[in-house]
Amino acid sequence: MAKYELLSKIESMLPSNAQIVESVFEGANIVLYSKNKDFVLKSKDLVRKIVNTVKKRVEIRPDPSILMNPDSARSIIEKEVPKEAGLQDVWFDDQRSIVLLEADKPGLVIGRSGEIINTLRQKTLWIPFVRRAPAIKSDLIKTIRYTIYSNSAYRRKFMNKIGQKIYGTPIDKSNYWIRISCLGGYREVGRSCTLLQTPHSRVIIDCGVNVASDEHAYPHFEAPEFDVSALDAIIVTHAHLDHSALVPLLFKYGFRGPVYCNEPTRDIMTLLQLDYIDVNQREGKKLLFDSRDIKEMIRHVFCLSFDEVTDITNDVRLTFFNSGHMLGASMAHFNIGDGYHNMLYTSDFKFNDTKMLSHAPYNFQRLETLAIESTYGAKGDVPPSLKECEARLISLVNETINRGGKVLIPVLGAGRAQEIMLIIEEAIRKKKIQNVNVFVDGMVWDVTAIHTTYPEYMNTNVKRLIFAKDHNPFLAPCFKWVGSQAERDKLIENTEPCVILATSGMLTGGSSVEYFRQLAENQNNQLIFVSYQGKGSLGRRLQAGERTIKMESRKGGIEVIKVKMQIETIEGFSGHSNRQELINFVKQLQPKPKRVIVMHGESSKCLDLASSIHKLLKVETQAPRNLDAVRIR
Ligand SMILES: [Zn+2]
Repeated sequence: MAKYELLSKIESMLPSNAQIVESVFEGANIVLYSKNKDFVLKSKDLVRKIVNTVKKRVEIRPDPSILMNPDSARSIIEKEVPKEAGLQDVWFDDQRSIVLLEADKPGLVIGRSGEIINTLRQKTLWIPFVRRAPAIKSDLIKTIRYTIYSNSAYRRKFMNKIGQKIYGTPIDKSNYWIRISCLGGYREVGRSCTLLQTPHSRVIIDCGVNVASDEHAYPHFEAPEFDVSALDAIIVTHAHLDHSALVPLLFKYGFRGPVYCNEPTRDIMTLLQLDYIDVNQREGKKLLFDSRDIKEMIRHVFCLSFDEVTDITNDVRLTFFNSGHMLGASMAHFNIGDGYHNMLYTSDFKFNDTKMLSHAPYNFQRLETLAIESTYGAKGDVPPSLKECEARLISLVNETINRGGKVLIPVLGAGRAQEIMLIIEEAIRKKKIQNVNVFVDGMVWDVTAIHTTYPEYMNTNVKRLIFAKDHNPFLAPCFKWVGSQAERDKLIENTEPCVILATSGMLTGGSSVEYFRQLAENQNNQLIFVSYQGKGSLGRRLQAGERTIKMESRKGGIEVIKVKMQIETIEGFSGHSNRQELINFVKQLQPKPKRVIVMHGESSKCLDLASSIHKLLKVETQAPRNLDAVRIR
């Protein structure tokens, strides 16, 4: 439906006393601002009717001119919200007539069947939105939320502009085509980046870096079809750097369109991008972008929840589904050309339950093209079950503690780190491991703080622990925060056994390398790899048996480290589907796709999985290379 048709249809359904001052878009959603207080407060049924008719999200909000002033509204809020709710912060977004209430217990702010929220609306006219305050204080989340609300006027204009574009031109279906350009992450793991193009749209799906490679670190932005000024939107499936690191770079290049992701992804990717700048700076590498570009990105993020269907251009409709890979990680489903073609981009996904997340779904309304990852896509990639991995981790930790050693687990800041924390916390709680300190280094701790803000993204087991049993495992006393080099040195000097979780996961920089340097020469210590080790990384070299490692010393110059610590790898904790899970997913997938594109895996794994899926489904499968373009319709 084109813009004017849509708005006039809505207007025709409004009563004569509606007093609509303005109709604006917030992306694909339509917001009507009214000056009639009674109409605003009693419009619920009408809104439902309009939504059913136009099939778009429509809201009626009070015009800012009739709102209660923020000071008086604040005192009403403080009076009505019970103390036990732990109200932490109140933000007034006067451009959108919204008040954001941040509290420890959002449920208590909302009240039984929304009763407190309703009272606040009646008394102040502001529209309350309730958010969970992080259980572990997080300056980053505060800064992000501040950036968004202090840019409210800009965002209102920006979101309206997106809507104008979405509803601006009707789709021309004569001579319609869809193609994807493979800019990075094809026949390799790292620097994931795909350009989805139609006659109307240019959408970037993920924009990552390959941290394990200097030569092949960035996507092929030099591809002739990549033009940052012609981009309509960026989709970020999850926060890992190989999917999100270079989004700020596109802002540096001048992109000012929307970035679609969900809230945990927005927060974690911001943190990882800031850390990425930091690590590069410390290593004396050239900086591609700085924190101003990250801030620009935050100003343009448009958050979507799982299963929320949204038009992102006039011919592309996006839905995120839980991918089970890390907090907030999503599969992206694209309905292109008003149902003309449907593509599922799995990104990184886990087709099995983990300690923290539930598995990815396999049932979709419509699906013609499947783009699937293949990190563990080869026939041999069937690691032990999660239960066996857990048991092995617990026994390795016990072994090391008993001989007085320290366990170093290099982790990606986000994902495995929190899974491992949940496993160790449960093992200590159930007395399978003796009470030992688990040091959680800077980055991992910060990411964990973000986890405590969004428990609704976790599986029912964790939610039950947090909500029903009032036991937040991430707040358990065994976890100790380490924030500085002095604290790191102190914990290394201390002879007590302990477990250390530190980034990066592949020992390619970050504090895990510092710990490794200091722990490596003692045979009582142990290094446990729990995640994928990229080609060329120090982690991969140690896995391959290298035991004499030359490293730049802290004082400058080269130091030679003779590695004596025990080195183990536990395959199976991965947030990626293993070979069997990939095959199970493809077998169960509904509806059966007509074409399969295999990506995100080393060349041999992509080819192996592509050929297996071809035999299994008897459909066209391909494993394109970087810089290939594939026409999917
Ligand atoms: Zn990932």
